[in-house]
Amino acid sequence: MTINFNKYENGLVPAIIQDANTKTVLMLGFMNQEALDITNSTKQVTFFSRSKNRLWTKGEESGNFLQLIDVKVDCDQDTLLISAKPIGPTCHTGADTCWNETNMSNFGFLTELESIITQRKNDASESDSYVASLFKSGINKMAQKVGEEAVEVVIEAKDNNDDLFLNESADLLFHYLILLQAKGFTLRDVESILKARNK
Ligand code: AMP
Ligand code: ZN
Ligand code: ZN
Ligand code: ZN
Repeated sequence: MTINFNKYENGLVPAIIQDANTKTVLMLGFMNQEALDITNSTKQVTFFSRSKNRLWTKGEESGNFLQLIDVKVDCDQDTLLISAKPIGPTCHTGADTCWNETNMSNFGFLTELESIITQRKNDASESDSYVASLFKSGINKMAQKVGEEAVEVVIEAKDNNDDLFLNESADLLFHYLILLQAKGFTLRDVESILKARNK
């Protein structure tokens, strides 16, 4: 890996630290060649701290280490993107990130869809949307819809029409997200059970 440590001052390059799992940006630090070497050999993310004017292993006092997963260099070799697994909160304020954010799993569009479903649920009485009507119809009806869509997925799985199979899969996932919310849960709750099983 070629890194241009001479581009900026004092042989330092910026290093963006990202949670390997959730992809949340945790903090920004600076590294010189030695900091990167130590990071690679110890697997604990280590910076050159300009305020301390020395090498600084994140977590050396707090125990909130950043365990190295992967290092990437950008298109013009002057910025690092470091994937890490945080052992605790990354910011010295106690926040998960240095931008005072919570480091949570994000399922991209599915998470956006969950928020849309929450909105429909919250103003179900005023809305004439399909999702609102499902919430008004009660939990049994929502569970039944999941059952129906699951059966449709099974039927299409036995056929050879990929388009129908994928469309029924989308129906199933959509109605399942609605049922989860009706029961007061989100995809994250299911994810945490799967994660625990994986240990
Ligand atoms: P730590 O490396 O977590 O043991 O923290 C030691 C010291 O480093 C703290 O008291 C802060 O001064 C500083 N520090 C810790 N985390 C950060 C951070 N994310 N960004 C900047 N400074 C930090
Ligand atoms: Zn660059
Ligand atoms: Zn911070
Ligand atoms: Zn369907």
